[in-house]
Amino acid sequence: MFWRSISRRCSRVLLQFSSRTLSSAPRPDAAVASAPPVLPRFDHQPKPYNGLSGDEILKKRQTFLGPSLFHYYQKPVNIVEGKMQYLYDENGKRYLDAFAGIVTVSCGHCHPDVVNSVVEQTKLLQHTTTIYLHHAIVEFAEALASKMPGNLKVVYFVNSGTEANELAMLMARLYSGNLGMVALRNAYHGGSAGTIGLTALSTWKYQIPQGEIHHVINPDPYRGVFGSNSDAYVKELKDHIDFGTPGKVAGFIAETFQGVGGAVELAPGYLKSAYEVIRKAGGVCIADEVQSGFGRTGSHYWGFETQGVIPDIVTMAKGIGNGLPLGAVVTTPEIAQVMSQKIQFNTFGGNPVCSAGGLAVLNVLDKERRQVHSADVGSHLLHRLRSLKQKYELIGDVRGRGLMVGVELVTDRKDKTPAKQETAFLFEKLKDLGVLVGKGGLHGNVFRIKPPMCFSKDDADFLVDAMDYAMSGM
Ligand code: PMP
Repeated sequence: MFWRSISRRCSRVLLQFSSRTLSSAPRPDAAVASAPPVLPRFDHQPKPYNGLSGDEILKKRQTFLGPSLFHYYQKPVNIVEGKMQYLYDENGKRYLDAFAGIVTVSCGHCHPDVVNSVVEQTKLLQHTTTIYLHHAIVEFAEALASKMPGNLKVVYFVNSGTEANELAMLMARLYSGNLGMVALRNAYHGGSAGTIGLTALSTWKYQIPQGEIHHVINPDPYRGVFGSNSDAYVKELKDHIDFGTPGKVAGFIAETFQGVGGAVELAPGYLKSAYEVIRKAGGVCIADEVQSGFGRTGSHYWGFETQGVIPDIVTMAKGIGNGLPLGAVVTTPEIAQVMSQKIQFNTFGGNPVCSAGGLAVLNVLDKERRQVHSADVGSHLLHRLRSLKQKYELIGDVRGRGLMVGVELVTDRKDKTPAKQETAFLFEKLKDLGVLVGKGGLHGNVFRIKPPMCFSKDDADFLVDAMDYAMSGM
């Protein structure tokens, strides 16, 4: 009853498009959550929407789309417009987007530079494949290669993260002459027949033969059996290879920050030693940067750089296109050479429209200094969340870097019992208050906060205030 009346009050307040003044002055951490927080001011008027209602869409989805589709929220939100870090529903209600369409919108929704590049290219030439020449693909490839360390200079364009990881796995197998792939538990690498095997979250697993894929313990500093002791995890990896797959390793794939797995940053030092073990065993090392790339972690442009390694193959998608269907694989000329005798063709990979958009994304991120911004806003957000952890026992762990943040909820801190129901309850309340966050982790008890990188300190304050307000009413 209490919650019902609160959420009615909140909705009314939020519908008025609140007008808290923009200020970056530090806020008191332990402020009493007495009134629902209001969204930072934002000057944008959404267009009136006259399309299908959320209920009608849901009905049609159930009739015409596959039953595997799932949606967030008991009453799913019908999003009809987006502008930078905000989204608008069918009634014009504004939400702070703290999940960026699953870590995909890097520059901001409908960023004008990206939109202009896409529109101009679409008007001129929408499609041609690589059987003809086109300037956009090489300009984009050159710009992307300039962002890579070491000898990672050869780019393949694809349409998604799944495709990127498929290609990386193919290259690893061809280059090494081996079949065995090693991945971490709690990982997500895609939804195709091949990459679903690399994925190790039980909910995503299919009971079909996955073919020479081995999962090793993920070096999770919070829940992992060896805590932050990366040597112990690497020993387990080495034992697995020595006794399980000697001489048969094609490649090892890992996200440096497990995204779907709940924003888990691998134990410090893990990748350096793990890469050594894999290379000694004849395999190549693949970094899945689908979520953590393009400066999101603040301290570095790529997630793997936070561990001081240079992979042999890097896969990327999502943020690379700010919403365009785009993915890429970057590798060394030596590894790329193994593909030269094969047909590796992708009709839409590197198409003019996506290449023009992708190049615009890279330019915007540089021009607007989004990596530095992510570091700055991210440390403010983490500081405020850590203060909130002191206030609520429910918060078991606050982790992350830059704008790649996880908040894990537990019913008791000692046993780390996942607070599944509480997470689900707060998730709904945050939405009612006007914040859309992600939810993940093996037990579904982690809030994933990975907003568009134009997210401001005021947005961070609003998000934490909303969490505080929602938790204070439990
Ligand atoms: N790798 C990671 C780390 C991901 O998070 C995802 C998507 N959640 C993928 C690969 C697959 O990407 P896509 O959905 O674009 O195929």
